[in-house]
Amino acid sequence: MVSKFLRRKEAESYMQDEKGVKSSKTFAQENKDLNDQEYKARSPLLRSYPTYVAINLSDVCTVSCKFCRYNFYTSHKRLVTLEDIKSQEWLKYPQTIDLFCGVGESLVNPQFKDIFQYMMETFPYQYRGLTTNGTLMDDQIIRLFLKGASWIHVSVNAFKIETYRDLLRDLLMDKGML
Ligand code: SF4
Repeated sequence: MVSKFLRRKEAESYMQDEKGVKSSKTFAQENKDLNDQEYKARSPLLRSYPTYVAINLSDVCTVSCKFCRYNFYTSHKRLVTLEDIKSQEWLKYPQTIDLFCGVGESLVNPQFKDIFQYMMETFPYQYRGLTTNGTLMDDQIIRLFLKGASWIHVSVNAFKIETYRDLLRDLLMDKGML
């Protein structure tokens, strides 16, 4: 862990030493260039940061699909906070931030809008988006996405409402469990 941190610090000073202080946008591009170089050289130790980062803002989901391993009762009910995001100074390096990574519904996070707004303002050059089941989409979120999302995947599972209902074991939200 410590060596990883030091490698990242080293990469940071490498990028600064090359041409002096740069904007975050330049850091993201140079990080990508460094990452490409390291990939081509098959470097065993990376000085670059990831160029694509996926962050699950919530491990709670609003529904329970038959085919999914998600379980409301065993999920840890963890939420990423705006402060968590702000504390990760290195987040300026990736070119793409995916606000979803597998299981859970990021829009459950009560700070989702604040986090998204912060990312739009702080990292305007990044690509950002997410996959959502769409159950918590509202006008405010749609407006936010129109301003700052590079993609939104709405996972609807089925064309027919009967199939949709069959695939969703429980609408946990309707039962007052969220
Ligand atoms: S919406 Fe996605 S995360 Fe939620 S239960 Fe269905 S497949 Fe799993």
